[in-house]
Amino acid sequence: MSVLAAHRVTLIPGDGVGPEVSEATRRVLEATGVEFEWDVQNAGLGVMDKYGTPMPDHVLESIRKNKVAIKGPLTTPLGKGIRSVNVALRKELDLFALVRPCKSYPGVRSRFQNIDLVIVRENTEDIYAGIEFQEGKPETAQMINQISAAAKKSIRPDSGLSIKALSITACKRIVNFAFEYARTHGRRKVTAVHKANIMKFTDGLFLQVAQDIAKEHPDIEFNDRIVDNMSMQLVQYPEEYDVLVLPNLYGDILSDLAAGLVGGLGLAPGANLGETVALFEATHGSAPKYAGMNRINPMAMMLSGVMMLRHLNETYAANMLEGAVAETIREGRYVTYDMKADRNDPTAVGTSQVADAIIGKLEKARTPTAI
Ligand code: NAD
Repeated sequence: MSVLAAHRVTLIPGDGVGPEVSEATRRVLEATGVEFEWDVQNAGLGVMDKYGTPMPDHVLESIRKNKVAIKGPLTTPLGKGIRSVNVALRKELDLFALVRPCKSYPGVRSRFQNIDLVIVRENTEDIYAGIEFQEGKPETAQMINQISAAAKKSIRPDSGLSIKALSITACKRIVNFAFEYARTHGRRKVTAVHKANIMKFTDGLFLQVAQDIAKEHPDIEFNDRIVDNMSMQLVQYPEEYDVLVLPNLYGDILSDLAAGLVGGLGLAPGANLGETVALFEATHGSAPKYAGMNRINPMAMMLSGVMMLRHLNETYAANMLEGAVAETIREGRYVTYDMKADRNDPTAVGTSQVADAIIGKLEKARTPTAI
């Protein structure tokens, strides 16, 4: 147990199922014995009326000040309306790397066993950055004319546009991060994932940078894969891969694929990392249809909490919490519907009961045994 002062951490409960998984996670984190001083901050659609924005400045300030945050998912309405608060958060705080480990825990129902992959996703650029021009707007017509003339290729006038920009700066930073991550975490190989054969000036640039940087890290194996081939390889030979580094959109898509290899979104944690700030969150979203039902699996956010404990150098507590989650999965008794063969299995328990079971194991682990 740490003897240091309490860790001050920003806690954003999120919306949809966010508050339920956040509460379950807060409880198990506290049950490790590590002391936290939670700076609870609300963001998302629920605060729009009050602050006129889903991401008020005081929430960003809290994260900047505390340097460590953990958040539940936040809803982004499809199509029109507000831009993703999650994307804005990553951009505002320059959280350039999204690390998503995908690891098999014994007892999980999955077609695959012994998976141990880490997705390192660039988090600030790419077509995902939300630089878009709406169909029918005068500025879109202007862009279409300019691009058609410069590229000498026609774009239909009734098009919408999304801009894909990749910079040398961001590519270097994320690939270097992936190699450093591999080295510090005892990993053997980095694979760069791209579509450089088609997008020569964006993904081609990413690949070129990755190849150059790989030469500076001769102790770590390096290869590259085209993203469509990578998708197939991951379901055929996942054991061949270790750390994957990807531009933003491919990272988003392959994160869910990799989550599927290890039992689903209920078990996929993540960390958004920048130079000074770290924000931990599960891969899954706000799953609105389950909101308030005490049904959703809190383990993805709890495992994000394990990553946060490691980041805070609370290694003992991190191992203890990961061990308690793993044991709960192995026993298969106090798990949510998504971990059962039949989704309607009446023996599935709720979100808070999973937390209770894990807290029970943590309390047992912390109780000194009589000699
Ligand atoms: P989702 O991840 O919320 O849910 C998709 C489905 O996956 C759910 O209906 C459920 O069946 C399953 N699932 C997800 N998490 C689960 C869990 N913990 N336990 C058990 N099953 C789980 O994806 P979506 O429906 O595409 O997105 C819903 C909203 O969440 C959207 O507004 C989206 O923009 C947002 N979102 C937010 C984040 C984030 O906050 N970082 C990430 C992804 C999506």
